Order: sequence, then structure tokens, then C-alpha cells
Amino acid sequence: MAGRTTDRCDIAIVGGGLAGGLAALALAAKRPDLDVRLIEPGPVGGNHVWSFFDSDIAKQDRWLVAPLVRHHWPKYDVRFPSHQRSVRMGYKSITGEALAEAVAAALPDGAVIADRAKHVAPDHLLLSRGGRLSAKHVIDARGAVKFPTLVCGWQKFVGRALTIKGGHGVERPVVMDATVEQADGYRFVYLLPFDAETLFVEDTYYSDDPDLDIAAIGDRITAYAAAQGWELAATGREETGREETGVLPVVIAGDFERLWPASDRTARIGVRAGAFHATTGYSLPDAVRTAAILPDLAGRPDLPAILRDRAAAAWRRQRFYRMLGAMLFRAAEPDARYRIFQRFYRLPAGLIARFYAGRSRTADKLRILAGKPPVRVGRAIAALRSFDWQ
Ligand SMILES: Cc1cc2nc3c(=O)[nH]c(=O)nc-3n(C[C@H](O)[C@H](O)[C@H](O)COP(=O)(O)OP(=O)(O)OC[C@H]3O[C@@H](n4cnc5c(N)ncnc54)[C@H](O)[C@@H]3O)c2cc1C
Repeated sequence: MAGRTTDRCDIAIVGGGLAGGLAALALAAKRPDLDVRLIEPGPVGGNHVWSFFDSDIAKQDRWLVAPLVRHHWPKYDVRFPSHQRSVRMGYKSITGEALAEAVAAALPDGAVIADRAKHVAPDHLLLSRGGRLSAKHVIDARGAVKFPTLVCGWQKFVGRALTIKGGHGVERPVVMDATVEQADGYRFVYLLPFDAETLFVEDTYYSDDPDLDIAAIGDRITAYAAAQGWELAATGREETGREETGVLPVVIAGDFERLWPASDRTARIGVRAGAFHATTGYSLPDAVRTAAILPDLAGRPDLPAILRDRAAAAWRRQRFYRMLGAMLFRAAEPDARYRIFQRFYRLPAGLIARFYAGRSRTADKLRILAGKPPVRVGRAIAALRSFDWQ
């Protein structure tokens, strides 16, 4: 766009985060005939580590993320006060830097526009620094917005890369270490061993409120490291700048029509389209699925309607997970929430994999709910009755 006030392309993707970056990569690989632009004011991918289970991604879609994987492990662990387990399931991390490199290599010069869109419409956008870009389709991938129409609890966290003198001894990811003191709802520590001395440590809370006290949680990360007997050489913040914070909605109820009104005819993908797991807040599995089908749909005039129908169907499929959110936040005492996860992690590995992929079968759902859940039954029934489960 440099030097021009108007420009034209086939597909303009607004937002070069996870969903927008993957969509650009898929289109560049499968539809090199299309003129695709990616509008992103910050670094493509940002300062992010996104992780996923192998079972989150269908075999035929793995080509899209394979070049972005920077860490992989064949198993992961969970630790609870009365249950510990290793699950034989591949776990992988991709990074924002890897996404940025892949996008830079795949898209022609000038296709990434380092600017913010100040107005987004189905067939054009206006850039903050001036200029208009017309497109056959604009795809809105601007990520999280405030979700005032959702009823939710929160999964919030602070994560830091720690450098540990002499090594940390953690061989594989610990997806939940809930043996820590419980606070502010369900608390667990998440560990990713990047190399023998570098460990990403994330202190996480399933909390009733979205407030994040970064300093206090940072102190807890330091205390956790001390309790393991680790001697810190430096924290990621000082050394590499690798610090992540997140406040993700754990959705209890919400109306898709209000999240993405039918009157908004701009195509959307990613969190902007409501495409995230209601219990975990994770969006990578859906972002990959959507990016992988985009090349076949890009030429269709009804692309926005197709994407909206898909997002609406995905939202309906998340109903069960929203119901679990109600159990978690409305029926369980905050300091007993960990028992729900402890119980869940006694279930078969296949069921756990399908849960994270958002693909639980009817039998899985019955199994998750069967027996005596560690919540007050009266409260659970009241919580379940109070929403219409849209
Ligand atoms: C710290 C953190 C860690 C997470 N880890 C995981 C994980 O491990 N696995 C997982 O599946 N999910 C994870 N999630 C949840 C979710 O998958 C991520 O938030 C994911 O990045 C969402 O993807 P997205 O593309 O929808 O939005 P984003 O990745 O947030 O991308 C949106 C992009 O749009 C850009 N943008 C915004 N406004 C404009 C504008 N006006 N014009 C142009 N560009 C604009 C932003 O700069 C940003 O780059 C995590 C979330 C957080 C916050």
C-alpha cells in the first residue's frame, strides 16, 4: 500500500495472530493465484507460545502446523493431590516467531501491511495511516473482543520462562500440577520444558473474576520454583522477554446471534468468530480446521455466510462444555474445583483427547457426568436450570 491511497486484492485478512496467520499460510500454499494481504500492526504472531495435543488436529491438516512446531514431546503429565498420571499423547508448541517467519517466507513482498485497520467492511477496509484496501473478501481475524453478551468464569494466568542453573529435571510437559495450594478458584501450575535448563512456568486460575495480579502471581511462580529446589539463573522477563499473561473466558452461556449478529456480513475467523473451546479458551484446533478449508472456499461469493454457519454450528457443539462451565463455576465450591479435574483425569486417554479437541462423543459426555460428581447436586441442578443452553 505504500504511496498508494487505494488498492485492491482478492482476500484481505485483518489480524496476523493465530487464526489470521494460519489462514494466510494456507491460502499462500494452496491458492498462490490469489492476491492475499495480511493487515497486522504488531509483529505477526506476537509474543506467543501456542500448544496443542496431536489429537487436536486431523492428520490431513498437520502439514499446516508442522513447519511451525518448535517443541514436541511424546507424553504429558498431570499431578493432583490424590492422582498422578502420564498420558501417552503427543504435545507440541508453536511460537509467534515461527508463525512470523513462515508468513514472511510464504507471502510475496508487500503482502503483509504493518498497520491497523480502523474500519472493516465485507469488501474493503480503511487503514489507520490512511488508505483504503478493497477486496473480494475481507476476513476479520482481530482476535478477542470484550464479550459482554457471555456469561462466563475465567481462566487467567501468568507464564514465565525460567532459566534454572544445573537443569530442572522436568522431562515432559506438566499440563496441570494441582498439588499446589488452592487459591482464587482452581489453581494449577503448567510446565513446558523447552530445554534442559529452560522451563516455561505458568500459574493458572479458574477464577470467578478476570482480575490478574501479575506481581503477586509472579511471586508465586518464584515460590513454586524455590519449592522444587530450582536455582534461578534469570527469569524469562529479564532474559528473553518471554512472559505471557492471559484472561480467557470459560463460557457458561451465550447467544451466538449476539456474538456475531447475522447483520454483520464480514467474514470472521478465530476467537473473533467465537471459535474457541468453552472450557479451555483454546482456539488452535479450530483455527487450523478453518484455515485448512479456506483455500477451497476463497472463491465463493458466499464465503462470509459459510464461515458464519460453520461458526454457529461449532458454537452449538460447544453446548456440553458450556454446561460443564456452569457446573464448575456455579455448583462447585471454588476451593473444591480441582476435584472435578482430578476426577476427569482418571478417565480414559481417548476420552480426554476428544474433550480437548472439542469432539466428545455422547458416551464420553455420559461418562464425564456419570457417578457422583464432586459438586453439590442441588446447586448443579439449579445452575443447569438457570440457562437456556444456546
Ligand atoms: C497468553 C495466551 C496463551 C494462549 N495459549 C494458547 C494455547 O497454548 N493453545 C491454544 O489453542 N490457545 C491458546 N490461547 C487462546 C487462543 O488460542 C489465543 O488467544 C489465540 O491467539 C487467538 O487467536 P486469534 O487469531 O483469534 O487472535 P490473536 O492471536 O489474538 O490475533 C489477533 C490479531 O489481530 C490483531 N489486531 C487487532 N486489532 C486489529 C486491527 N484493528 N487491525 C489489524 N490487526 C488487528 C492483533 O494485533 C493480533 O495480532 C492463549 C491465549 C493467550 C492470551
